[in-house]
This record gives sequence, structure tokens and C-alpha cells, in this order.
Amino acid sequence: MKVLVVNCGSSSIKYQLVNMNDESVLAKGLVERIGLDGSVLTHQPEGKDKVIINADISNHSIGIKLVIDALTDSQHGVITSMTEIAAVGHRVVHGGEKFADSVLITPAVMKALEDCIEMAPLHNPPNIMGINACAEIMPGIPQVGVFDTAFHQTMPKHAFLYALPYEAYEKYGVRRYGFHGTSHKYVSQQVAELMGEHMTNLRIITCHLGNGASIAAVKHGKCIDTSMGFTPLEGLVMGTRSGGIDPAIVPFLMKKENMNADQVDNYLNKKSGVLGVSGVSSDFRDIEEAANSGNERSELALEMFAYRVRKFIGSYVAAMGGVDAIVFTAGLGENSISMRDKISNGLEYLGTRIDPVKNNVRGKAQEISVDGAKVKIFVIPTNEELVIARDTKAICGNLA
Ligand code: ADP
Repeated sequence: MKVLVVNCGSSSIKYQLVNMNDESVLAKGLVERIGLDGSVLTHQPEGKDKVIINADISNHSIGIKLVIDALTDSQHGVITSMTEIAAVGHRVVHGGEKFADSVLITPAVMKALEDCIEMAPLHNPPNIMGINACAEIMPGIPQVGVFDTAFHQTMPKHAFLYALPYEAYEKYGVRRYGFHGTSHKYVSQQVAELMGEHMTNLRIITCHLGNGASIAAVKHGKCIDTSMGFTPLEGLVMGTRSGGIDPAIVPFLMKKENMNADQVDNYLNKKSGVLGVSGVSSDFRDIEEAANSGNERSELALEMFAYRVRKFIGSYVAAMGGVDAIVFTAGLGENSISMRDKISNGLEYLGTRIDPVKNNVRGKAQEISVDGAKVKIFVIPTNEELVIARDTKAICGNLA
């Protein structure tokens, strides 16, 4: 069974074709600059040369059509006909309270996704466009939605509610939803496997540290708390997002800087985080380089980032009554040796420490804590596409 995994952004489509017999990736690629000048498809078939196709890609339907053409092309294709694709799995950012698991896309599901647009105005519309585009180009092929929010739906009410008037929750669904759920789910399952334990015996803290960053407390296989909230803005310091701040700063700055709601939203989401503090970049590689050459605000930004992660780890140890494993994943978590070291420096009270030799690793699943550590620390590369493909197979496997 072959599953096409699709992740649509407002001007992009990321895709992977996965052979579910052995979970191998047959081809992957990216459509960029949809609706803009210079739109392009980069297609990477497994074991063959990368192909770059420049074309006028004015909408997602044209983008999906080009992806199918690339996958079935006589030279750089990997399948002979579109009918070899048994199902399509879509990453969907916001499933609200309606979806605690992945679902087969039906007209009722599409309606529910549209209802969630208000809560994810940047993310859900392109996800919906991607589903519609696939339905148009691949009629009759079942589609599945896999939600970033789903894994966090097990949070208890005392963890997901904000202490606002209760009507804010009842009328508008204002609550913590959490994001990156597919990644937190995958790495927590992987770490249990590496430890040779069942999830139900473990308390795991998963740190998804990329440009967007979040952390989750996974107790006995279920997420009980996570740092992102109503939107992905809450929690950790991020590339360009502030993470948690005193909410009173918002009206204060709106008055002082004469900003409207959209402008302050942009300020907090796009201009803050390590970019705002360092004034150098939102990319951690640039900031680490600047800090190494003595740029003090870059050093401060890295320290603030690490301190916030460490504080959340401590709070999740309290929330779970202990911890057995801490996992680092995503761009920074998988690759930044120095950031992992910075974060873990000070966790000795938990009975753990990073082994500098084992920590000298990038993008590979392995334990990095010292031998005999009471709490084990791991690097686990995330693989959200594989989770989407597996869920799609689980839902559609019986349909054929
Ligand atoms: P997102 O999916 O949220 O855009 P990623 O998970 O791809 O983010 O992570 C991107 C971040 O990871 C960037 O800030 C990048 O600097 C950082 N990163 C990637 N490789 C390294 C590295 N070798 N050292 C430090 N940071 C890295």
C-alpha cells in the first residue's frame, strides 16, 4: 500500500510518497511560491537525481497536479499510475476539540475544519485547500486528516483551561490546545521502544525544539500538559515568537506603539523570540555563531531559550510526580550539541547529566545521558510524515 503524505502551507506543499509495506520513502519534494513569481517544484525520487521544475503554479490544485505528474513521470517518477496511491494523509494544524485522533475526511469533517479556521487563521485554510486540491486531482482516493492538536486532547481540564471567565471557553473555545502533537507522540513512542519499556510504565518529557518550539509531559502514554496554548504563541521562547509573557504587556504596547490587534499579533509572532532579543537572526545557527564571536545579545537569547526549557522541564516533573526520560527533537533539539548541553546543565538534581561524548551526535536516535543516570536523556529525530502515513494506513487499510 502506498500513501501520499501532504503538508500544505499558504504558498507551499511538502509531500512524501511512502511504501507502507516497509515504510520506505519512494519520493519526496516541495512545491514553493504557489501564487507568486518564481514558483517551483523540487522533486527527489529515491535513488535518482533531484529534479527542479519551474512552472506557473497559481494555486494548490495546480501544485498537486504537478506533484502527481512528477511521481508518475516516465523518467523521474516512482509509480506508473496515480491509481497506485491508495490514500492521502494530510497534516492539519488545528482540530479543535472535535478531533482526538486522525480521521477519514468526509463532508462533515470538512465542515468541522472550516469551523476551526477562526482559531488557526494562518494554518487551517491552506490545509483545507490542500484537501480540496487532492479531491479534485485524485477523485475517489480516500483522504485522512492528522491533527497537530489531537495528541494533546488527553490533557485534563485543570491543565487545559485558562483562568478566564468560564464563558470564554464555552462561547469561543478559548483553552490550551497544544501543537506539534504528531511529533510529541512519535518521539515518546520511539523512546519507550529504545528503553525496551511500555509507554504505560513511563513518564516522558518531550522537547520539540525547532523554529517553533514546544514541550509536552507524557505520562503513561498520554499527554497531560504541553507548553503551546490556544495558539502556537504560548510557552517556550522561539525563533520569532515571544512564548509566555505577561498578557498585560499586550494592551500596554498597543497604546505605546499605537498598534492595532493584527500589528501586535505580528509583533509577538514574527518579531520576538530569539530574533527579537538577539537582533541577529531567528536561525539558531546564526545566533550560536554570533554568540561564539562575542555578541552579547545573542548569548543572552540562547541563555533565555535554555532557561525557559529548563523551567518547563522542572514544572513537568512536578506535574507528573517524576520523570523517567527527557527527549530532544526537531531542528535544534536534534542538531545543537551546545543547546542540549546548556539546557541539561542544572538537571543534576533529577539524577541526570549529559555525557559529553554521547552528546556529540546530530540527527541520530540515541541516549546521551551518563551511564546509570536515573533519568535518561535522548536525542530522537522526529518523523511526523511517518506518523501521518501510519495513521492513514490504519484508517484506510480496510477500505480497499
Ligand atoms: P520548523 O519546522 O519549526 O521550521 P525545524 O525543526 O526545521 O523548525 O528547526 C529549525 C531550527 O533548527 C533553525 O532555527 C535551525 O537553526 C536549527 N538548527 C538546525 N540545524 C542546526 C544545527 N546544526 N545547530 C543549531 N541549530 C540548528
